[in-house]
Amino acid sequence: MTKPRIRRPVARINTDPQLGLLPDHDIPAPPATVASKPDRVRFIDNDPREIRVGANRLDEHLKQMGVTDALVVREVLGKADWSVFEASYEPGGRPPYAPRAVAGIVLYGVTRGISSLRELERFARCDLGCMWVSGGITPDHSVLGRFIQRHEQALSQELFEQVISQALKRTDSGRAYLAGDGTTLEAMSSRFALIKREAVQAWHEGLATRVDASAQEREQAERALQTLADRPSAKAIVPAEPEAALLKLKNNRGFRPAFEAVVTANDARVVVDAELDSTSELAAMKQLLERMPPGQTQEVLLDAGFSNDFGLIEKTVSRSISLLSPEQAETPRADAPTLIPLREFRYDEVEDVYVCPQGHRLMPVRRNAGSPPQAKKKRRPYVQYAAREQDCGGCERRSGCTRGRVRTIQRDYAQELKEALRIVMAQPRAKRRFAQRKAMVEPVFADLRERQGLHRFRRRGLSGARLEFRIHLTAYNLRRILAAAWTAAAEAFLAPILALVERWRARGALYAERQSQISRIAWIAPGTADTFLGAPAFM
Ligand code: SF4
Repeated sequence: MTKPRIRRPVARINTDPQLGLLPDHDIPAPPATVASKPDRVRFIDNDPREIRVGANRLDEHLKQMGVTDALVVREVLGKADWSVFEASYEPGGRPPYAPRAVAGIVLYGVTRGISSLRELERFARCDLGCMWVSGGITPDHSVLGRFIQRHEQALSQELFEQVISQALKRTDSGRAYLAGDGTTLEAMSSRFALIKREAVQAWHEGLATRVDASAQEREQAERALQTLADRPSAKAIVPAEPEAALLKLKNNRGFRPAFEAVVTANDARVVVDAELDSTSELAAMKQLLERMPPGQTQEVLLDAGFSNDFGLIEKTVSRSISLLSPEQAETPRADAPTLIPLREFRYDEVEDVYVCPQGHRLMPVRRNAGSPPQAKKKRRPYVQYAAREQDCGGCERRSGCTRGRVRTIQRDYAQELKEALRIVMAQPRAKRRFAQRKAMVEPVFADLRERQGLHRFRRRGLSGARLEFRIHLTAYNLRRILAAAWTAAAEAFLAPILALVERWRARGALYAERQSQISRIAWIAPGTADTFLGAPAFM
């Protein structure tokens, strides 16, 4: 038996030498950014409809080839407000490229996994989709680099926000329910550039006696020393990039200079905010919570570990945001036996005592008011509770409960919030809701790494890494818009088929109902009953 031949549509470039006689500009012209007045800046903003592939206009060619993402990206960027970008140029001189076109090259390139400036330069010259987005301009890598540097603030703030708004609108989603996640992203500096704390101190002291040391070297040593003073636990530092701390990467690649990155995303996987911090995911997440517009976010789902921080729980309560975050399981240490966890001790609010698993009371022995507001290093207020010596002395669980004479517990003033969270997280509805967190936010970092190639930052310093991170997230949100456009197109394509299926289904149900009616009538008709189900004939 011969197999049926597979027939696939063949797309061909229209090489007809004869162009149409009528104008084919049926889609509206791009918003005019070329100023007509002499006191305003003139931008180079080409109309991509002038570009032709064979006899076809570029957008027609892209549609024929099924590469429509460039059309959507240009449309989205066309709706953004570029006034902040344009305001940074002065009239006169050689006209600059329109910011929309240059940002389009960068963002469209990042959506395709291209983030190196030299690769972007080549991409702008060779890729037809990129030509549609940019209008066919061909800036070189230095122009692209200068553009990113010049518009650091606008790219990481205004454009980032505008693309988020568009993504929320097009995915028909909001900021009411968010999920947060964090990861460690490698900094640009190599681990071989790390210098130990003692070496930095010796270098700094040596510079005081050296007359040939440059001002830049002195400034670098000063900055490195200052960063080490701010981070007393840091053992080594990269002098050229002191903000990058030595952190353990999550893919078993050991310790590298890196940053902690966090994002919040909604159920349509649109990233609504992001932050970077030198050393702490918690600090970055607190910044995100602080920035959440009041009244917009009702619930935040965070991974285990975030709820260990009292400050973070307090922040969600003060902003009337419901937090769902499980308690982190204690990891047993090889060098120390695991103590009976705090959750096995019951706090008696009326008597202000803890009751241990053996039924003995731990009384308050010390009250600490915390550090004063002006203190550099903040310490939270707490109460210390301790068991009595006669109780612990003869207790059979003592070896697993304390390494001292008696068990002590330090209770933060926000401990009751943590206990309330533990009770909430034990509810089945909260567990079901929290189970959605993974699907909402975890694919974000996987996408950034695998689809956009963000394995390591290309820009130095916290501000450079923050800018790059936000450019990647803007590109990521553009991809969410593209996914929504694909879904809408697929639904529009399938709508007539689904309507037909629905009609058939309704007809089938009607037919079944009629058959059932006929059989009932036939069963009660005299002389016909025995033909159905072998029932006896009516008398
Ligand atoms: S060691 Fe002390 S606190 Fe711990 S269970 Fe025994 S009596 Fe209670």
